[in-house]
Amino acid sequence: MDIVFEGGCLCEAVRYSSSSELITTVHCCCRDCRKIGGTGHATHSVIPADSFELTGNVSEFACTADSGNRINRFFCPKCGSAIYHTRDGLKGLVVIRTSSMDDPEIARPDRVIYTSSAVSWDHLDPTLPSFEKMSNVKPGVGKDGSSRIVGIDGRHRNHSNQESLKTGPRGQT
Ligand SMILES: [Zn+2]
Ligand SMILES: [Zn+2]
Repeated sequence: MDIVFEGGCLCEAVRYSSSSELITTVHCCCRDCRKIGGTGHATHSVIPADSFELTGNVSEFACTADSGNRINRFFCPKCGSAIYHTRDGLKGLVVIRTSSMDDPEIARPDRVIYTSSAVSWDHLDPTLPSFEKMSNVKPGVGKDGSSRIVGIDGRHRNHSNQESLKTGPRGQT
């Protein structure tokens, strides 16, 4: 299979390639992403698991998301770079850290999630659809048998005046 893009950790002990284009890219402002990334948010890109090829050893940190789903986060044991995660709710998909890609410019973030946990100084593109919590991406199978996302839902902040009045546009709840 042809390589579409590559990436890896800072020390280059861990490398990966993808034989698929990105399915979606999302900014996440949740507490866990901030803690792990050392920044105001993390940017994640989704690809089919069967297009993902990893070389080198990764360490794993598993925890339970507020959805109750298990998230397995993988990072380089040597330099600590976050590489990717998988989650129970997204079977067949791998969520890579967009920042670990060799050319992150190929990613086009399409929404912001967990704005309820966003910090006031972290400014993201205000034209993107944003969600107070998760926007539920639904994994499915395309006509050609490949993994893809068949639907996205969630509480769309821009379409809910009541919601934004209650919590403020990007306020901490
Ligand atoms: Zn490394
Ligand atoms: Zn997050």
